[in-house]
Amino acid sequence: MLKIENLQAGYGKVQVLHGITIHVPKGKIVTLIGSNGAGKTTTMRAVSGMIKPTSGQIMLSGQDITGLDSHQIARRGLAHSPEGRRVFPTLSVVDNIRLGAFVRYTNARPKGDVEGDVDKALEMFPRLKERTHQLAGTLSGGEQQMLAMARAVMLNPEVILLDEPSMGLAPILVEEVFNIISRLKAQGVTMLLVEQFAAAALKVADYGYVLENGRISVHGPAAKLKDDPAVKAAYLGG
Ligand code: ATP
Repeated sequence: MLKIENLQAGYGKVQVLHGITIHVPKGKIVTLIGSNGAGKTTTMRAVSGMIKPTSGQIMLSGQDITGLDSHQIARRGLAHSPEGRRVFPTLSVVDNIRLGAFVRYTNARPKGDVEGDVDKALEMFPRLKERTHQLAGTLSGGEQQMLAMARAVMLNPEVILLDEPSMGLAPILVEEVFNIISRLKAQGVTMLLVEQFAAAALKVADYGYVLENGRISVHGPAAKLKDDPAVKAAYLGG
């Protein structure tokens, strides 16, 4: 579904990714783990078109999306829920969710039942449902993080990139986010997940890659990585 081949990218003269290859098969969750500054967010940005790769290739459903702009990539069915609070602060929660469906109003994606999907998204995120008409800018950081996730789901995407969905969330909400990820998976959503809670990410994922200094050091089935002594020592708290 999503194939990242030999990707190199960075910022100006600083190269961050030194040729990484990641495959995300249809209907699977693949997680990318690594320490701070390893290049996880940079990978997500390069895939979604926020930054341009300097070399390598990215294929989405058999189409080459390398170097396209982010709106073109969204039209081809890739949703990116970025790290941090990326919501429209002066719009209500429900309008932010509706906006997630914007490409479905172009001919690029099937429109389907947008309002029905808005209701489903609110059901999936009860915290947001309680705050349907609240301005997004007044939500807590964790709630905004959930809103960004709900918006990504509204694209009805082929693939979702989820960057640190649990960032800034209280433990109970972290659990809720992972439950939502499991539910999306049960619906057949394909996902590339970056998570600080590597153990939880490996639990929900099918396959994992470890990124170290812009290179993939280890990859394998999530269940196997969980038991890998080096991965355990470095990322799972021993
Ligand atoms: P974290 O877990 O801390 O979010 P990460 O693995 O997501 O880390 P990146 O955010 O991809 O890491 O950062 C990789 C490297 O790129 C870091 O050295 C960072 O300082 C650098 N970097 C990130 N964004 C920029 C930018 N906009 N301009 C210049 N350098 C950047």
